[in-house]
Amino acid sequence: VLRDDFRAACGLTSERFLIAANFFLFNVVRGGRNVIPVDEFVRHAVVGDHSAAFDRLGLFVLNLSLGGKRSKSGNGVEFPAPWANEFVKQALWQSGRWRRAALDEPAMDAFLASRITGVADAKQKCRSNYRHLYELTKYLPSASPAINTGAEAWIAAALFTAWDRRALAAGMVTPPPSSAALVRASEAAEDYKLLGLDVGEFRVLAPPIADQYASAGGLARFGGGIAPPAPTAPTTTPAGVAPTGAAKPSPSPAPAVDLGWLTVAGSEAAVEREISRRLEQKRDQVLATKLKSLYEHRCMACGEAVVIGFDPERHYAEAAHIKPLGKPHDGPDKPGNMLVLCANHHIQFDRGVLSIRRTPAGAAFVSRIPGDPTHGKAVALHPKHKLEPDCVEWHSTTFARVGE
Ligand SMILES: [Zn+2]
Repeated sequence: VLRDDFRAACGLTSERFLIAANFFLFNVVRGGRNVIPVDEFVRHAVVGDHSAAFDRLGLFVLNLSLGGKRSKSGNGVEFPAPWANEFVKQALWQSGRWRRAALDEPAMDAFLASRITGVADAKQKCRSNYRHLYELTKYLPSASPAINTGAEAWIAAALFTAWDRRALAAGMVTPPPSSAALVRASEAAEDYKLLGLDVGEFRVLAPPIADQYASAGGLARFGGGIAPPAPTAPTTTPAGVAPTGAAKPSPSPAPAVDLGWLTVAGSEAAVEREISRRLEQKRDQVLATKLKSLYEHRCMACGEAVVIGFDPERHYAEAAHIKPLGKPHDGPDKPGNMLVLCANHHIQFDRGVLSIRRTPAGAAFVSRIPGDPTHGKAVALHPKHKLEPDCVEWHSTTFARVGE
């Protein structure tokens, strides 16, 4: 669609917008005219329902800061918000999560003030509007020191958008790069910081999304494709129609990926729920696996690491949820609600034969088996692992009642 038509249709008539459409949209120049191509972000804006996940995707796109080129240069469109990109990567993200402290107004302002260019009044509005985006996305207000970005709900759309835009910026025609190359490029560009993930989580979450992207044909999934930049070609593009001169790409051979559920599920929303569900499962597996490694697969109750293989030696442990997941308890699926236990102690823990309670010195095990050496033993937490007091309280009160 031609940029001017897009703006008129959206009611964007003024020349001055603070956090303007320019920050969110990608622009290409065809025959001297500014054209907005369809990418994953545009697709969500047009066909999706408004949701918190979409707001988060919008913030990601602003932070990604890939804006394409415009015929009237001077707006810094190619990389429109370097300050936002740098803010997330340098100030907000730390050790795999976004730090709440970086979103404090004075801290944020100190970082951004020198980096946003323009007249003073516009700079000030830009900074406060950027902060307002963190409120719209519900990342603020928050008392938690580390912000969970909930990236499971929007990571697929975010990575599709990033890969679309990099392909558009390179004037790339199909087929898309291999899924391994897509993941490598994203990792090199530190997309995981914009997602609020650590690199380990990213390496688990990104490959299945890259497989989907590659097998969907990359940009060609929109049916138009985009021709390499050809500045001499005259344009005949009518408003509201994909740019002409874009060669219809031949479909690339799809790798063997199970896409059955895409067609069975039917609606867009169902497809997105399914992607979210699959990614959440992956992420849970990552968290549980990392926690088990942290304790070297030793049961926190008895200290045993059960050997299940030699050469190389392999051990088995389970991640036990303190407050159960799902209805009716809805315990959180995070390390603060997990213990690493051997299979025997896991069963006892789930039945409340073994429990934990809070003591002034920290959490301690409570066993209902007379003479059990585990009874009264302190829960020896790794320095990187903290338990959620609410979850400990839940286990202790729930099973105290059962046992008494
Ligand atoms: Zn044990």
